[in-house]
Amino acid sequence: MDDTCSTAAGVPVLARADVVVIGGGPGGFAAALRARRDGCSVVLIEQFDMPGGVHTSGLQGAANPGVGGIHTELMERFAAAGCIYTADERSLPDWAGNPLSHYDYYLPPGSPFKRSSFNPDRAGNLMLRLLDDAGVQSFYGAAFVDVALEPAGTERRITAAIVETAGGRGAVLGRVFVDGTGTAEVVARAGAPFVRGGGGQPGTVRHDGEPRPIPGGLLWIMTGIDFARVAGYQKREGDPTLAKLIAAARAAGDIPEHLYRPRLAGPGVYGDHYIGHPTVDMSPISGPGTFILWQNVPYEWALHMDDDAEHASRARRELRKLIDVEAAFLGRYVPGFEDAQVAHVGRYVGVRDGRHPIGEHLFTLDDARSGRRFPDAVTAPMTKTFFWDAYARHTFEVPYRSFLPRTVDNLLLTGASLSFTFETIFMVMRNFPWCIQTGEIAGCAAAMAVHQGIPPKQLRCTAPLF
Ligand SMILES: Cc1cc2nc3c(=O)[nH]c(=O)nc-3n(C[C@H](O)[C@H](O)[C@H](O)COP(=O)(O)OP(=O)(O)OC[C@H]3O[C@@H](n4cnc5c(N)ncnc54)[C@H](O)[C@@H]3O)c2cc1C
Repeated sequence: MDDTCSTAAGVPVLARADVVVIGGGPGGFAAALRARRDGCSVVLIEQFDMPGGVHTSGLQGAANPGVGGIHTELMERFAAAGCIYTADERSLPDWAGNPLSHYDYYLPPGSPFKRSSFNPDRAGNLMLRLLDDAGVQSFYGAAFVDVALEPAGTERRITAAIVETAGGRGAVLGRVFVDGTGTAEVVARAGAPFVRGGGGQPGTVRHDGEPRPIPGGLLWIMTGIDFARVAGYQKREGDPTLAKLIAAARAAGDIPEHLYRPRLAGPGVYGDHYIGHPTVDMSPISGPGTFILWQNVPYEWALHMDDDAEHASRARRELRKLIDVEAAFLGRYVPGFEDAQVAHVGRYVGVRDGRHPIGEHLFTLDDARSGRRFPDAVTAPMTKTFFWDAYARHTFEVPYRSFLPRTVDNLLLTGASLSFTFETIFMVMRNFPWCIQTGEIAGCAAAMAVHQGIPPKQLRCTAPLF
């Protein structure tokens, strides 16, 4: 491709860079920052107004201890800026073991706990500043819609990302591209192979045999909650799950069938996880009296929000309606919520089980179980709990080939879009710290490829990248 041209794929050139990162979630953010710090010019394309993806625009906000590299740096910066809030047994004495607690329901009641979260907007602003200060050229409010490709031997090469911006359609030219969309959208537009969410994958056995994606969810925040009053009601009335109040509201026609429906029973593919809300589902965030709540897509709807326009729209419409209904129920029926208000609804419905790229190596549960060693491992060995494998702990490493989609030679995967089976990405690697880590690895590999003048597919990695 002529790198000096003013149009590409018939549209004006908006920008050009060594590394073009599409999507500024934890994976894309860390890839952009690392590639820039490693001496590359970098363009980041993000449809919303700040980086951080599900964890900022989607309000997730869960904060974990630093795991090294950019993740540790971020946690330290968030803490120094005062945007990490930690609840514990002193501030929320009835939280541990409470069935309303999204994360801490399994703890012995009254036990010590620490639940940390970062303020999504403040954290997003901080991440935005970090990218700006490093010299990343970021386009916010810019939607990636397509790629321009050229032949590259037996494969193909991306020459430009096509984006819709306030100024119209434009092309961003680059040498190396990183798919940070969280749903492998670049992989799909480039025609590289993937498996649709919920569709099963080579090397993967779906436990319940049904091709339903793990439901995504829309997160929202309520302020003004008096949790001591909620806990008082739970104890006084012997109603830990609020079942009596839910039954009363349902009988009065105030709760539709898709709110608070039962979990799927048995060790199905969803196990005890992520299939909806048998009851109120919440976690402290940002400060006293403020909680984040989960509104998952009803699992029966089996929505593919990442690749079906009607599904995407239905999820957005219906989850907002359910949030209104839930907020009204809480305010009207549940002691402690009388003065609570909806403060914030996430900018988007997060996808938990989107496209799964099939890369040069598809990382499977067997790889983790067997502790398989890879000559091109780019992570140090990691030991993690696999809750869909009877909570077994496996030590494993990630090969560079799981960052490389098939058929395209200059695209790197990261975050939730790595070449992992749905079980392995969902159980472990899609979490915020690891998305930051794999983003950093992608950024580092991108920079090495640029400096060596080769596409990432030709890069030889034989040691952890940081
Ligand atoms: C509802 C929900 C709850 C979760 N809870 C937890 C949790 O408790 N703890 C945890 O660690 N993890 C949790 N996760 C998982 C975690 O949030 C994701 O796996 C992680 O955010 C993936 O990071 P990513 O960078 O790959 O993608 P994302 O975070 O999805 O970020 C992708 C970014 O790309 C942008 N983008 C996408 N398409 C385009 C486009 N066409 N043009 C421009 N920009 C685009 C998006 O706007 C977004 O900013 C949760 C996920 C969901 C959906």
